[in-house]
Amino acid sequence: MLDVIIIGGGVIGCAIARELSRFKLQVLLLEKTDDICNGQSKANTAIIHGGYDAKPGTQKARFNVAGNKMYESICAELDVPRKWNTSLVVSFSFDDHDKLEELLRQGAVNGVPDLRIIGQDELRAREPNVGRTAAEALLVPTGGIVCPYELTAAFAENAATNGVKFRRNAEVISVAKTEGGWRVACKDAVYRTRAVVNAAGLYSDRINNMVSEDEFHIHPRRGEYYIVDKKYADVFHAAMFQLPTKMGKGILVSPTIDGTVLIGPTAEDIDDKADTRTTAEGLEKALRYGSLTWENIPRKDFITTFSGLRAHSDKDDFILGEPADAPLFFNAGGVESPGLTSSPAIGQYLAESIADKLGAARNEAFDPIRHSIPKFREMTMEERARAIAHNPDYAKVVCRCETVTEAEIREAIRRPVGARTVDGIKRRTRAGMGRCQAGFCTPRTIELLCEELELDPTEITKCGGDSYLVQGDVLPNAEEKGGEQE
Ligand SMILES: Cc1cc2nc3c(=O)[nH]c(=O)nc-3n(C[C@H](O)[C@H](O)[C@H](O)COP(=O)(O)OP(=O)(O)OC[C@H]3O[C@@H](n4cnc5c(N)ncnc54)[C@H](O)[C@@H]3O)c2cc1C
Repeated sequence: MLDVIIIGGGVIGCAIARELSRFKLQVLLLEKTDDICNGQSKANTAIIHGGYDAKPGTQKARFNVAGNKMYESICAELDVPRKWNTSLVVSFSFDDHDKLEELLRQGAVNGVPDLRIIGQDELRAREPNVGRTAAEALLVPTGGIVCPYELTAAFAENAATNGVKFRRNAEVISVAKTEGGWRVACKDAVYRTRAVVNAAGLYSDRINNMVSEDEFHIHPRRGEYYIVDKKYADVFHAAMFQLPTKMGKGILVSPTIDGTVLIGPTAEDIDDKADTRTTAEGLEKALRYGSLTWENIPRKDFITTFSGLRAHSDKDDFILGEPADAPLFFNAGGVESPGLTSSPAIGQYLAESIADKLGAARNEAFDPIRHSIPKFREMTMEERARAIAHNPDYAKVVCRCETVTEAEIREAIRRPVGARTVDGIKRRTRAGMGRCQAGFCTPRTIELLCEELELDPTEITKCGGDSYLVQGDVLPNAEEKGGEQE
């Protein structure tokens, strides 16, 4: 009998896992795919929102503002990079002044500090590259950016270090009430647990509707993006928003913590929860609106495109806590934007509610500290020399675009809840995320996965399932064939 099963290994499930590990509880996280951070949490704008946009009184408003306040200490404890680069909501007509005022009022009600509207002069002084038609802007000093993959991995690693167990490739197919708890079934295993947490993102409706008459439904809302090369890292300082629409926060031009620039996301309601295609129409729209903020977007320097699906629910808010008819079943459902920002606060709130209901004692041995993998690209020459002296694998650069070494890749595999796929390596180290998009480093990354996990190249996937990268017989190399070559 377990104490808690968490369904879903996105940023929300992993944040809850970490907070639950503060208590003496047997916790297991079940993730459907081959890795954590494979859903919404890997494909978003990565902004730590201030909280001006959510309707006052909603869970989104409450947890956005609370989560934002927790980021500084969470990122310090977990060694996750973040930057308080501010957000600007830019209007492109003076007729929209009232809309900026309305956002300011809403933000103030939500408890967002220091909001103010800035005129043309200050806007241009702050952001000289903003489009010519920009009129004025709402300045959000508490806006920031973070690495969503590193944050999710950090929550998971720290949870695992403090005793939480993780199982990947473990899709939950049924949840049913039993005497004294819940029966949770995957295809190959059945678990009994006192409490369940539903953090299944786009599929959180399915899980909730298995146990509660208080149903909700998730409608996927796709957002498409361009990523622009790092040479434009300094083109904008702030995350550059436009005025929000009823579909979301509008199209942004936003620097990322790693130096690339995002243009997007669009917002399109679709039917298929797995349809993460990018489309010509969506990308054209991202460019059209993005060009208001950034005229002459350098199209030759696009690195790639991607899309993410928002878990938009028909309740139009986060669905948190126990439904009335399912005690000890806790929802963290419909967590769309600002879910990344809210994750520390949602994790804390749900973990404390669960621990309270289960009468759990504090885990005195809980260690809040996690260290990130030391990044060769960020080291001084002296630090590099020391790292290589300590571990010669730091001298072997595998990803040339992002300067990621063999030492970092091996460590990403060896860590708790470590990488098992090429994309898992990419999200933990940035190997393959740069200009050439893994053109050069994939073969060596496959070899390192094989060496560390004692697998054959034909068993390595890009991102789980049948995304195999090597098929058929791998020819022996010339040396093994006695130097013969045709
Ligand atoms: C386009 C876009 C832009 C966004 N921008 C921002 C932003 O800038 N700032 C911000 O704060 N938020 C943003 N968000 C929102 C944020 O990304 C999400 O709120 C957050 O990632 C939700 O995390 P999650 O863990 O609930 O969901 P997910 O990350 O989707 O994780 C759910 C997990 O559950 C697993 N799962 C599903 N069904 C099962 C099952 N049956 N058994 C086991 N596992 C299962 C899935 O495989 C998945 O890994 C954005 C979202 C999108 C899509």
